[in-house]
Amino acid sequence: MNCREATRLMSEQQERELVLRERLPLKLHVMMCTGCRNFGQQMHTIRQIARTYAKNEDKDGSA
Ligand SMILES: [Zn+2]
Repeated sequence: MNCREATRLMSEQQERELVLRERLPLKLHVMMCTGCRNFGQQMHTIRQIARTYAKNEDKDGSA
């Protein structure tokens, strides 16, 4: 597992459930790698903002 794979898996994790064979090495890598840890946190934050925004859009939506 390198940084490239780790970031790719973290992106895919948003769309689908990772299998254990992906999740385990990813977790180990993120534990050791500050860069990927930050990437994961940023993505999590962006995801939550996007979700909140989408929810508000839906609420005030034109439907
Ligand atoms: Zn890394």
